[in-house]
Amino acid sequence: MSDVTSHSEVSTYKPGDEVAGGWTFEHLHLMNERFVARVRQAIACGLEAPPPGAGCAPPARTYTGPICAHCGKPFATTRSDKIYCSQWCCQAAYRKRRDAAAIHDP
Ligand SMILES: [Zn+2]
Repeated sequence: MSDVTSHSEVSTYKPGDEVAGGWTFEHLHLMNERFVARVRQAIACGLEAPPPGAGCAPPARTYTGPICAHCGKPFATTRSDKIYCSQWCCQAAYRKRRDAAAIHDP
């Protein structure tokens, strides 16, 4: 009988072994660690703010992602060749280069 088998499986459960949905506790824990790491990275590069009253300082800046070549702010991108955080910085950098070239070559 399958009822007897499932009952004996249930009786081997210990606190912390709960399965929520289709995920095991270990998998949920792993997903949570990944989520926390991503949120900390977002806080470190200024894309997110820690919750008010969190009482914990954000971790030391370990951001290794892209930094805007014009304004120096970190930004998120999926492209590895993007060097400006925005179109505005791209245009400003272009104008700066253009004006610098005009001074040297009137
Ligand atoms: Zn910028």
